[in-house]
Amino acid sequence: MKPFNTLTNSMRSSGIRKIMALSEDVDGCIHLEVGQPDFRTPEHILEAAAHAAHDGFTKYTNSAGIPELRQAIAQKVIKKNGYNVGPQNVVVSPGAVCSMFTTLLSLVDPGEEVLLPDPGWPNYTMQMSCIGANPVYYPLDQTRGFQIDFDILEKLITQKTKVLVLNTPGNPTGAVITREAIEKSVELARKYDLFLISDEIYEDIIFEGTHSSAGLYNDDGRIITIYGFSKSYAAMGLRVGYTVCEEKIAKLLTKLQEPVVSCASSISQKACVAALTGSQDSVAEMTAAYKKRRDAVVDILRKHGLYQYTPSGAFYILIDISRTGRNSTDFAVELLNKKKVAVAPGETFGQTTKNYIRVSFAIEIEKLKEGMNILCEKINA
Ligand code: PMP
Repeated sequence: MKPFNTLTNSMRSSGIRKIMALSEDVDGCIHLEVGQPDFRTPEHILEAAAHAAHDGFTKYTNSAGIPELRQAIAQKVIKKNGYNVGPQNVVVSPGAVCSMFTTLLSLVDPGEEVLLPDPGWPNYTMQMSCIGANPVYYPLDQTRGFQIDFDILEKLITQKTKVLVLNTPGNPTGAVITREAIEKSVELARKYDLFLISDEIYEDIIFEGTHSSAGLYNDDGRIITIYGFSKSYAAMGLRVGYTVCEEKIAKLLTKLQEPVVSCASSISQKACVAALTGSQDSVAEMTAAYKKRRDAVVDILRKHGLYQYTPSGAFYILIDISRTGRNSTDFAVELLNKKKVAVAPGETFGQTTKNYIRVSFAIEIEKLKEGMNILCEKINA
């Protein structure tokens, strides 16, 4: 047999999936590894999905999404994110992961460089592998509150750099990029003629500070912002995300979606219209619950002498395990096998966090506390 595709075949799969797969054989496992909200999708969203299905709304849609949803998204961006766009600037995809991939694919040629956060979501690196583009990592250091060091970032820019990727609030850090840092990133993008892709899927999950959208600064069309429904509405399985960008890029993304995904699910798109036009109370309630959980995690870390920082957004915290002297994957595998607690190994997010593990506090608080106490005892053992 001839070899498979070189690029995809050589792609490294994420360490989170590895732990998830191993945990399937562990009875009674406490899952702190996966970023999957435990809440039920709000009822009015489910009802809209059910109605759409029963009404036979099951045909293909426009590749960019149904007009009703693109219009509702444009209204949301104007009202919530504070910048002016229309439906022609919106492309709906099956999840923000797809929005990210099609955006990168539309902008980046093989061999070009993309600046990615380290630590960062492993899928960015995997997408680079598929495109044959080169990731160049800018470090987010815990001592700086996981904020960008612009001196370092600027030095990483070369003739081949095409895109700067931001993620705020960040996975796995939980850091919210300050408005000032967003402005500096935009300045840098303008200075070196780069595109700036801002992944803002956790925009609603903010505990301190405010979320600033990079899209606010899109004066010359180089800024592309990605949002989604999975985290804000606990609606991961609906698989809907969207890109907001200038019309020329939106057209390219729409063209690209046709041969790859056709369109996002028609039923899910109707559900997402209900999500945006209905009550937003559940978004606030879920965020308040994540904040309680975050506080509980921080308290437990303090009690065990392991406290280092407090995440201001998303539902993740990185925990330093260097005192164990173990590599993060070995530590995570042992914790799973011996103590039935699953965590994500830090090395899967980058070099900067090879001595960390990531805990997701998207699970119910009592289980979370139990898992955290077991984890802390293991780190201190
Ligand atoms: N971006 C980041 C940083 C994420 O953590 C995730 C989900 N874990 C996504 C994008 C994708 O979300 P979805 O495809 O479910 O919309």
